[in-house]
Amino acid sequence: MTTRGEEETLAIAEVLAAAFRGGEVVLLTGELGAGKTTFVRGLAQGLGADPREVSSPTFVLLTSYPGRLTLHHADLYRLAGDGDEIELGLEELPGPRGVLAVEWAERLERSYWARPVRVHLAHAGDDRRRVSIEESAA
Ligand code: ADP
Ligand code: MG
Repeated sequence: MTTRGEEETLAIAEVLAAAFRGGEVVLLTGELGAGKTTFVRGLAQGLGADPREVSSPTFVLLTSYPGRLTLHHADLYRLAGDGDEIELGLEELPGPRGVLAVEWAERLERSYWARPVRVHLAHAGDDRRRVSIEESAA
C-alpha cells in the first residue's frame, strides 16, 4: 500500500502489532529515510510500549522497550559483520513474550527465524511511501 505522511505508516504498523501475541519477528528493509524507524514506532504503539522512546541510536544496536509484549529493536546499519549479529544474540530473540523488529535486515548473514514478517519501505515521492508487508504462510 502507499502511505501519505508518517501518521499513515505509524497506523499500519500499529494495526499489525495489535494482533501480535508474542514471538513475532519483523524484518525491515528499505533505504535511509524510507520510514523503517517510523514503522517500528508504530509497532511500539500497537504493543503498548512508548513510541517516543524508539529512535535510531548512534551506537547501540539493540534496544528493548517494555509493553504488553517487550519490543526488541535492532538497527543493523552499523553492523560490522564477522558474526556481530551472533554477539548481539539476535537469534535468541524475541522469546515467547517479545517481538523483534530488525532494521537493515538485508545485512543479516542469515535468517534465524521460521516465519518472519517482511516489511519493505520505499520512497514514492514527497511524503509518500510504498509499504509492502509479506507474512510467511503458517
Ligand atoms: P529510516 O529508519 O528508514 O531511515 P525514518 O523512519 O527514521 O527512516 O525516517 C523517515 C522520515 O520520513 C521521517 O522524518 C518521517 O517523518 C518522514 N516521512 C514522510 N512521509 C512518510 C511516510 N509516508 N511514512 C513514513 N515516514 C515518512
Ligand atoms: Mg532507522
